[in-house]
Amino acid sequence: MTRAVLLVSLVVLIAACGGEEANEAAAVVQPALAGVDDARLAAAADDGEEWLTHGRTWSEERHSPLTAVDADNVALLQRRWSFDTGTERGLEATPIVVDGVLYTTGTWSVVWALDARTGELLWKYDPAVAKEVGRRACCDVVNRGVAVYGGRVYFGTLDGRLIALDAESGAAVWQVQTTPPGESYTITGAPRVLEGKVIIGNGGAEFGVRGYVSAYDAASGDPLWRTFTVPGDPSKPFESEAMKQAAETWTGSWWELGGGGTVWDSMAYDPELGLLYVGTGNGSPWVRRVRSPGGGDNLHLSSILALDPDDGRIVWHFQTTPGDNWDFTATQHLILADLEIDGVVRKTIMQAPKNGFFYVLDRETGEFISGEAYATVTWATGLDEDGRPIEAAGQDYPEKLALVQPTFFGAHNWQPMSFNPATGLVYIPAQEVLGAYLQDPAYQRSELDFNVATHMNVFAAFPPEVASGHLLAWDPVRQREAWRVPHGLPWNGGTLTTAGNLVFQGTADGRFVAYRADDGRPLWVDHVGTGIIAAPMTYAIDGVQYVSVMAGWGGAFGLVGGTAARGVAVGPGVLVTWALPEAIPTPEQIEAYVTRTGELADGERAYHQWCARCHGAGAVSSSNIPDLRFAGEGLVDIALNGIPDTGMPAFGAELDEEDARLILRYLRKRKEETVR
Ligand code: CA
Repeated sequence: MTRAVLLVSLVVLIAACGGEEANEAAAVVQPALAGVDDARLAAAADDGEEWLTHGRTWSEERHSPLTAVDADNVALLQRRWSFDTGTERGLEATPIVVDGVLYTTGTWSVVWALDARTGELLWKYDPAVAKEVGRRACCDVVNRGVAVYGGRVYFGTLDGRLIALDAESGAAVWQVQTTPPGESYTITGAPRVLEGKVIIGNGGAEFGVRGYVSAYDAASGDPLWRTFTVPGDPSKPFESEAMKQAAETWTGSWWELGGGGTVWDSMAYDPELGLLYVGTGNGSPWVRRVRSPGGGDNLHLSSILALDPDDGRIVWHFQTTPGDNWDFTATQHLILADLEIDGVVRKTIMQAPKNGFFYVLDRETGEFISGEAYATVTWATGLDEDGRPIEAAGQDYPEKLALVQPTFFGAHNWQPMSFNPATGLVYIPAQEVLGAYLQDPAYQRSELDFNVATHMNVFAAFPPEVASGHLLAWDPVRQREAWRVPHGLPWNGGTLTTAGNLVFQGTADGRFVAYRADDGRPLWVDHVGTGIIAAPMTYAIDGVQYVSVMAGWGGAFGLVGGTAARGVAVGPGVLVTWALPEAIPTPEQIEAYVTRTGELADGERAYHQWCARCHGAGAVSSSNIPDLRFAGEGLVDIALNGIPDTGMPAFGAELDEEDARLILRYLRKRKEETVR
C-alpha cells in the first residue's frame, strides 16, 4: 500500500471512529508521535537516535551506529532511570524508541509508553488477557514487544489478538482475533510493519496446532492474507500450490495432530528484493514417527521461508531440520547482511537455529552458502553440500532413550543475536544443554496438554551440570568461532552491538555487561539483581546516548529449568536505562553549591558534618549502616540521644532539635530526588 492510500485510509478511519474531529489537514501531516513510515524504516540503519522496529532495522542486525558510548568510556556508564513494571515473570521485549517515547511490553501482553529521557509513565494499556490462557502457553506469559507505524502502536496478545493503539493516548483504535477461539494458539512475538501491513504469527506447536503467519491492513485491521506453513487435511482443497507440494513430504494423518511449524518469533524484510522472511517452528508432536509415520521431510517445519509480502506466497524455503524430531525450531533470529564471501559481496540471511548449525544463505534465492556447527552437535555428523544435516545413528530415540545435544532449549533460542559490520562478527547468546528424549507410547492428543509424545519426566532427570551458557562471537564468513565468554548458567540475554566497538548482554545471574566487540574483553558490569533474558537496545536524545534493557527472569528454561537453573537471579521485573554521567561541574559551580544558604542547605551541611561519614554522602548509604533517606520522625530523638550498644552516638551536645529537623527535611528531599 502506498503512503497516499494509507493516509486516505487513516482519514476514513478517524471519521468512522468519530473520536477526533475528521480534519483532513491534521490527517495528512505526520502524527505528532510515532510518525513512522516506510521511508523512515528503510533509512533506519543510519538513524542511530531512534530504535524504530524490533531488530532496529528491517534487516534486524541489532547494530547501532551510535558512538557517544564507546569502548574507552563505557566504564563510566551509570543508571539514569529505571521503571518498575510491577511484574515478576519473564520480560522478553525489545523496547521501541521514536520521537522521545519508549514503547515496550511485559507479562500478560501489557503495553507501556514512557518518556525515553526520564522513564516517566505516559500511559499503560492492559488488554485484560484471561489468566486461564496461561496454561496454553508453552513458555511463560511473555511478550517480545510492539511495532510502531503511522501514529499507532501494534502488538499481539497471549490470547491471539492483534491490537492497534493510538501512540499518543494509548487508546485502542482496532483489534482483531488472529487465532481460532478455543484453540491453543498464543502470541508472544512482536509484529513487524511494512508497506502498510502488520505481519503477525503465533505459537502453539507444543499444543497441537498448525502454523501460519498473517498480514493485516495497518490502517483498518482488515485481514490481507494468511500463509500456512504446513499442509492441512489433504481431502480438502489446499490453500496454495506450496501446500499441495508440501503435503507430499508428509505421511499418515498429521493434520489430526496439528503438524506444527508455528511462526512465533523471527521476521526480517528486504525492501529491495521485496521479500519478507519468517522462521518456522518444530513439529507437532515432536516425535516424527507419531506425526508422520511413513517418514518424509515434513515441509515447512524448522524452515526459513521467503514470502512475497503482497500476497504471502512462499517464494523459497530452506529447511534446517528435515523431519524434525527434537523440537528444533528455526524461529530463531534472522539477520540480513551483505557479506564478502570468496571475493564476492553476497546478499545473505543468517540464522543460528536451535539445532546447533550456523547457516548463511543467499537471501534472494535461498541457496545454501555455508553452515557449520556453532555448538556441540550429537544428532548430526555435519551438513552435506546442500546444507542438509547428516543424521547420526540412534539419535532419533528408536524405542530407547537418547541423550541429544542440542536439545529443546536449543544451542540458541529466541534471545536475539546481533551483527557488527565493523568486526564482521555475529554475537550469539549460545548455550550447551544436554537433553534426554524417550517416546511416550501412551501419547494421546489433548488441546490443553503438552503434545510432544515424549516422556515429560526426562526433565526431572537433568543433573545441573549439563547446562551452561556463553556469549559466542561467530565469524559468519569463515564459519568459525572468534571468541567466547563463559557465563556458567544457560538462558542469558539477547545481544546489542554498537559502532562504539561494544557488545552488551545481560545474564541469568542478573548482571548487565559491556564487552569489546572485537576481542570480547569485559569493560563494565552493573548488577541489576534480576536475571536478564531480553535484548538490550540503545537510542539518543539531544546528544545523550542511552542503553536500555528489560530485566525479568522467566521464559521456557526460566520456568522448567529446575536444578539446572539454580543460581539465577529472581527479582522484580524492571526496565533499566544507563547513560554516561552528565558533564562534571566546574570548581566555581561546586563552590557556589557548597556555600549556598537556606534551610535545605543548612540541613545538608549539618548532615555532612555529623552523619555522612557513616550514613553516606548525599544521604545514600553504600554499606549496611541504615540509609537515612527512609528514616521517619523518630530520627530526631535518635540523633539527639543515640541508640545504646549499636555504635550510634548521641549528638545532643552538637545538635539541637531544630538542627535535627533540618537534617530530616534534607533527607526527605534526597529521598524524592533519588528513590523511584
Ligand atoms: Ca517448541
